[in-house]
Amino acid sequence: MKKYNFNAGPSMLPREVIENTAKQILDFNGSGLSLAEISHRAKDFQPVVDEAEALIKELLNVPEGYSVLFLGGGASLEFCMIPFNFLIKKAAYLNTGVWAKKAMKEAKFFGEVVEVASSADANYTFIPKDWSCPADADYLHITSNNTIYGTEIRKDLDVNVPMISDMSSDILSRPVDVSKYDCIYAGAQKNLSMAGVTVIILKNDKLGKAPREIPTMLDYRTHVDKGSMFNTPPVVPIYTALENLRWIKKKGGVEAMDRRANERAEIVYSEIERNKLFKGTVKEEDRSVMNICFVMNDEYKELEKPFLDYAISKGMVGIKGHRSVGGFRASCYNAQTIEGVNALVKCMKDFEAQN
Ligand SMILES: *Cc1c(COP(=O)(O)O)cnc(C)c1O
Repeated sequence: MKKYNFNAGPSMLPREVIENTAKQILDFNGSGLSLAEISHRAKDFQPVVDEAEALIKELLNVPEGYSVLFLGGGASLEFCMIPFNFLIKKAAYLNTGVWAKKAMKEAKFFGEVVEVASSADANYTFIPKDWSCPADADYLHITSNNTIYGTEIRKDLDVNVPMISDMSSDILSRPVDVSKYDCIYAGAQKNLSMAGVTVIILKNDKLGKAPREIPTMLDYRTHVDKGSMFNTPPVVPIYTALENLRWIKKKGGVEAMDRRANERAEIVYSEIERNKLFKGTVKEEDRSVMNICFVMNDEYKELEKPFLDYAISKGMVGIKGHRSVGGFRASCYNAQTIEGVNALVKCMKDFEAQN
């Protein structure tokens, strides 16, 4: 049976990205060696990093003066590297979910942290709107897409200070005005590659300003100076990222990814609204096009488990909601297909008809 992958992360990648990576794992560029057994300093590997970096700059229209890094440690390591490197005195954080909160927690080790707003009391079912950011904050940290709750800030906010954004679950799904950010980072395993690499885009002239000594590995300048090659980078995940970046470009770039995302989300959200069994969990204007969360309507609560079993029996993978939200979550990252969301919608319709 055909499987439709709605996993929240690690998550679906285009089939050809997996196949091309698999070929290189067997025989890298006809060398007779596997991608997994070559040196990251081999002459054939530097072009992989260079092309991946160039494609990120091209696809996101990254202005001059920014560097692109490929590091290990996941988005979670950036939670501490960001304040280590960017927090001089005071940082502002918008609390839109567990990831935002974790980022904020790390910043508190380094200086004053202002929570500009929070939707924690409403289990993060909306993005707070009427808040202001202290003008003397070094940066405002936001989480552009809240993977667990299914809310998203799908535009570049106008704020009085530079922004830093955790784009782990929506990077490269829409055009971004990078000039508004001092740093954009993303653990790759949702929208870009397999687990193991984090992409960081940062503004060079903002580095070296923090009034503290930074351990070598946690200092962004170390990695900027060495082009992500200070130590051994995650070779295979970087290669997979490159294949995926080529795929995104071939499909029409981030504008096309944006159109596809909106199209998929429209299909699923309209069915949630139409179907008597289900309802959405977040405020309509803040709905994520990447992670679509929904639950059973109150009068059909007892059908939650039966629907999940039914969907699994029809090939749906990974639609169980996060434990802090319950219900269901259909993650529709760049690789998700219209066929996939149509298959899910068919499950929802057929299950409604049977009940
Ligand atoms: C998954 C996720 C993280 C954590 O990423 P790791 O790479 O596992 O550290 C952080 N932020 C967001 C928005 C996420 O979706």
